[in-house]
Amino acid sequence: TMALITFSGYPSSGKTRRANQLKEHLDRRLADPPYNDLRQTVAILSDDSLNVDRSSYKGTVPVLFPSLSNDVVDSRSEKLARATLFAAIQRQISPNTILIVDALNYIKGFRYQLYCAAREFKLRVCTVYVVATPELCKRWNIERLDDRGYSPETLDNLIARYEEPSSMVRWDSPLFTVPWSESDVPIELIWKAITEGNVKPPNAGT
Ligand code: ADP
Ligand code: MG
Repeated sequence: TMALITFSGYPSSGKTRRANQLKEHLDRRLADPPYNDLRQTVAILSDDSLNVDRSSYKGTVPVLFPSLSNDVVDSRSEKLARATLFAAIQRQISPNTILIVDALNYIKGFRYQLYCAAREFKLRVCTVYVVATPELCKRWNIERLDDRGYSPETLDNLIARYEEPSSMVRWDSPLFTVPWSESDVPIELIWKAITEGNVKPPNAGT
């Protein structure tokens, strides 16, 4: 199985926490028969592992104009952050890696780009949408122990610009939504998606 699992969600919504939960489940499963023969490893790529600073996402205009699209607000540092992530993903794709992309992935067009790359390599895909209310994200952002919080302005700005995943579009599906109140990720559904998921050849149309 070669798979790309894309996380998406507000800043400080719990993406890294969920990604770690998922990795633990996958590692445990892959350590025992019959899956240990597959020699699969699970890798997480994140802004932290790539040393991308949170301030990269501060945008170019203040949050006074929340209706402005990402095309307008998106800054050079954000484009660079995405390019860094995309390059790292392409480097890490391999027949024996389950790749978890633990990043904001807040731009529809970027998730589409990931989907296209995955298709090119015939990877199975799924998207995990980590959901918490803006109020909870703001609180958790302040309380973060890892010293990796976002500035309040960046947080508001990113929430305003967040493009929600949808199970109706092929590049976000299958989509698994994990609300903050859940104790764990839906491991059985995710496992099914990345082991039994239908892989269509590239350019197979919609
Ligand atoms: P992200 O990766 O989305 O920025 P993190 O996973 O690092 O967010 O979580 C940010 C902070 O919020 C952490 O301190 C984490 O412990 C806390 N947190 C995340 N999800 C929950 C939750 N469901 N309940 C309580 N605290 C949470
Ligand atoms: Mg994180």
